[in-house]
Amino acid sequence: MRNDKLHLILKETFGYQTFRFDQLEIINSILDGKDTLAIMPTGGGKSLCYQIPALYSEGVCLVISPLISLMQDQVMNLEEFGVASCFLNSSQSYEEKKEVQRRVRNGEAKILYVSPEGVLSPSIMNFLDQITISLIAIDEAHCVSQWGHEFRKDYTRLYELKNWFPEVPLIALTATADEKTRRDISHQLSLKDPQTFVSSFDRPNIKYMIHERGDEIKQLNEFISASHSDDTGIVYCLSRKKVEKVAKELSNLGYHAIPYHAGLSPQTRERNQELFNREEQIIVVATIAFGMGIDRPDVRFVAHLDLPKSVESYYQETGRAGRDGKESSAWMIYGLQDVVKISQMLETTEAHENYKKVARHKLDSMLSLCETIQCRRHYLLNYFGEQTGQHCGSCDSCLEPAETWDASIDAQKLLSTIYRTGQNFGSNYIIDVLRGSKNTKVIERRHDRLSVYGIGKDLPKNHWNHMIRQMIHLGYIGIKNWEYRNLCLLEKSRGVLAGTSPIYLRRQSDKRARLGLQKASTKNKHMDHERHELFEELRSLRGEIAEEKKVPPYIVFNDKTLHEMCVFLPRNASDFLMINGVGQKKYEQYGALFLRKIADHQIHV
Ligand code: ADP
Ligand code: ZN
Repeated sequence: MRNDKLHLILKETFGYQTFRFDQLEIINSILDGKDTLAIMPTGGGKSLCYQIPALYSEGVCLVISPLISLMQDQVMNLEEFGVASCFLNSSQSYEEKKEVQRRVRNGEAKILYVSPEGVLSPSIMNFLDQITISLIAIDEAHCVSQWGHEFRKDYTRLYELKNWFPEVPLIALTATADEKTRRDISHQLSLKDPQTFVSSFDRPNIKYMIHERGDEIKQLNEFISASHSDDTGIVYCLSRKKVEKVAKELSNLGYHAIPYHAGLSPQTRERNQELFNREEQIIVVATIAFGMGIDRPDVRFVAHLDLPKSVESYYQETGRAGRDGKESSAWMIYGLQDVVKISQMLETTEAHENYKKVARHKLDSMLSLCETIQCRRHYLLNYFGEQTGQHCGSCDSCLEPAETWDASIDAQKLLSTIYRTGQNFGSNYIIDVLRGSKNTKVIERRHDRLSVYGIGKDLPKNHWNHMIRQMIHLGYIGIKNWEYRNLCLLEKSRGVLAGTSPIYLRRQSDKRARLGLQKASTKNKHMDHERHELFEELRSLRGEIAEEKKVPPYIVFNDKTLHEMCVFLPRNASDFLMINGVGQKKYEQYGALFLRKIADHQIHV
């Protein structure tokens, strides 16, 4: 009975045919009055897990959400689906807040979004006491945990909600999966025996590719033009300066690229965020300041020009690609410089030693992902505690397995150099000695007199860098001092030096990177129909509607929904309502326009 009604809401209000992952179980757990912890990958559909119970129950659902832009987006989205909702936050005037409170009191809204700092203020608490709350949802719940990667102080007081409203079921939602953070969330929020649901973290529509950095703009341009020339994407960089530079260079290459970082004025940031939400075929070049506010489902690629500081961040950032389930790419280039930069940033912060330890460990795991010769997806899912097959067939490691070579002799030269110079130097210096550099430091220290001086001069610097990185990852070389990243020998290197155990490394090759690009081409694959013209017509109709209503196009219908229209060519209301993403309200608003466009197109072909 209840399930029938829930399916009806899913279908009539949101226009979806089936629940995804554990959505139905999560919703039932909440409706049974239980505290619930829902862990689902980004784009998995967390919002429906509280929106549907909100519509099913009496009273209003309270949602704690960390960002104003996120709330606004959600409310805009819900209005389009015909769900009455509103938010209370610091961007509103006193009168606006009063009006929202009036609407909620009169039962004119089913969902109320509030910021974490706002919700515990006396005035809002006082207001909440006067209304019936059906459930409390805490979005981005990992912000409560110091173990997570986006700790927010405002979140730590949220356990008080449980004291104030002990009878109201609470649902915490996050995409952060690791066990420690998970336990910490339910502890910090004082959840009562929470029912925990962990949905698979796999994002099968995302293809992972990781390459070594060469000429980064050239590589990026090759990647975009080969696979995503007409698409929308995000390019992440570590620094503001680099963001500006890359955005400019992409514009020079003819892309519509805009910068986004915390150093821009609030107006510019807001404008660029708007642009990104509205325009088609736009690329935002951004620091990680650009993130939580993105709800756009049709981001086709996420490119990283610098290494993120943890696998969690990498997965969250790449997870912004392909939320509509269509084929998308996560592409990254990296180099040893990244590790040095991040380590330096880390060492110069005032953070507690324990925190630094965790951070170093996370960075190491991130580097291992880059250096692994295993399937990337396997590595990622394994990192999040999920067991999967060894071979996904859609990452660069699977598609072009790394060639390996017997590196024993070169490894001996390298290890000897580290040893003879006293295990006191970083990779650049070691390479200088190996290659017989006239660097004054080398001469001063009389390292030019060592037997190892110059024994590696026949090979380029980047060959040695590449070897060092892999040997760190494989546990032959250790890092003694994080500030300077001095290299030292580890137990495992003994056999290599003695010539008793050979060592095989991944071959570095440009060919591999090029191959990756060709096979990476996902261009137009996400069109499972040949009706490109119709798609373009529907897309421009959507554009006109969006323009008039002043909302981003995907709020009207997302690309996936338009593609479905092209596939099924609906002719009447009941056909149209079968399309994924078309609910009753959207049908009423736009059905006739789109049906007419589709019918016209049929006549002309
Ligand atoms: P997140 O888990 O990142 O918060 P959202 O709740 O924003 O994800 O959902 C991502 C997208 O998936 C949205 O466009 C949403 O409407 C869609 N979606 C959610 N549940 C379903 C479903 N059961 N069937 C089809 N699409 C869904
Ligand atoms: Zn794979």
